[in-house]
Amino acid sequence: MAEDELEKEILEWAKKYAREHGWTLNPDEKKLDVVIRGLARNRKKFGEAYCPCRLRTGDAEKDALIICPCVYHKDEVANQGSCHCSLYFRTDAGERK
Ligand code: SF4
Repeated sequence: MAEDELEKEILEWAKKYAREHGWTLNPDEKKLDVVIRGLARNRKKFGEAYCPCRLRTGDAEKDALIICPCVYHKDEVANQGSCHCSLYFRTDAGERK
């Protein structure tokens, strides 16, 4: 699969996932693009869409925690308004500024 097709697939999946949780994706398209590209790169290189904003340890069991959507993202969205990579946003996050 061409990388851009994989990026599209991941973007569509992320949009659906955000919708299902009542969130949105980063409204800044450039930043969104960087994360989507990072996820696609990791999927291609390592076989899993590891979080592009976290360090892999090389230990498959530990690294499973940071396959997107990582184990941390729900708390981060709830508490900080977005996940660590700024992929998923709480819809009211912008209103808190
Ligand atoms: S921080 Fe966001 S982009 Fe990174 S793995 Fe977690 S949910 Fe995915």
